[in-house]
Amino acid sequence: MPEPPRAGATLTVDLDAICANWRRLAAMLRPGANCAAVVKADAYGCGAIQVAPALLAAGCRRFGVASLDEGLALAPLLRDADILVFSGPLPGTEAEYTARRLIPVLNSPAQAAAWVELARKLDRRLPAVLHVDTGLTRLGFGLEEARALAEDNALRAAIDIQLVMSHLACAEEPAHPMNASQLAAFRAARAFLPGVEGSLAASSGIFLGADWHADWARPGAALYGINPTPNKPNPMRQVVHLQGEIVQVREIDAGRTVGYGATWRAPGKARLATAALGYADGLPRTLSNRGAAYLGDTRVPIVGRVSMDLTVFDVTQAPPELARPGAMLDLIGPRLVVDEVAETAGTIAYELMTGLGQRLRRVYVGAGAR
Ligand SMILES: *Cc1c(COP(=O)(O)O)cnc(C)c1O
Repeated sequence: MPEPPRAGATLTVDLDAICANWRRLAAMLRPGANCAAVVKADAYGCGAIQVAPALLAAGCRRFGVASLDEGLALAPLLRDADILVFSGPLPGTEAEYTARRLIPVLNSPAQAAAWVELARKLDRRLPAVLHVDTGLTRLGFGLEEARALAEDNALRAAIDIQLVMSHLACAEEPAHPMNASQLAAFRAARAFLPGVEGSLAASSGIFLGADWHADWARPGAALYGINPTPNKPNPMRQVVHLQGEIVQVREIDAGRTVGYGATWRAPGKARLATAALGYADGLPRTLSNRGAAYLGDTRVPIVGRVSMDLTVFDVTQAPPELARPGAMLDLIGPRLVVDEVAETAGTIAYELMTGLGQRLRRVYVGAGAR
């Protein structure tokens, strides 16, 4: 039975575009390098349960998530692939990794020690990824700690280190000296573990060139249409389309104010449309009196403050036959791409997308959409 139409806000996610972006990134890598897919934070707000199986079908065999819970949610769907958990096991959770074949990223000697302890208890060698900090200073082994781990034969017997990983701090700025210094530190770390594969580049790192590709790239953002090369045209396909439904249209007189705080005052007679989405749906409140939507081909500015569930648009310039209850306004889409909306809101597309609300009706189109 077709779903009845519902008032509100809709996020349409194009799974074909995500898969095309993954293929495009994979094709850019140096020969022999592979492309993983980062699906943390519910696949950057797109819905990991839908996105990860589509990427599996497209050929992706390694996935990255941030937390154990994210890994557990995907494990039944990705039996033929590896799931890396970037946070690594928090104390006491190690056994949950082995139960679901999740591969922990070991970020500290303490995490490695706990993983060794479990390996001994189970009397088998356990897989892991070693994270070396080369300058981001967030998580990871220091270079000397990595050397000590590599030289610890008992530890190496207990842990099968499948990958040496590091993460770049300034990859979206190709000329930044950190890119070269982190590459050098990464190579130094890999030299401690000859024969073990390496992974350094996320989305923007792929565009730095083959030296940064190592054996596995780990893109997230670019899969979802975020521009990995800021200040240059976006090479990725757009993935998300955020729409809000108009629930009321009204004519107002000059001088009337709109919304909480009465921050917008009509300079003349105006026609306003109130749409059923607000900051609880992920529309940043910082778009108040700054952002806009498209109604058909007409740009319609946000007037007054974005509130929790409702946002008001000045549709005076839009054709009256379009500006009516039930019509959909485009908040993010072909005319207003995520990076642009995020910039207007004073943030980055990563934050905008991962803040898209759970309340949005999500519609999937393309490969494997159910
Ligand atoms: C989030 C994350 C990625 C993906 O980064 P993007 O910039 O979104 O491509 C890769 N690796 C690690 C460790 C991450 O935390």
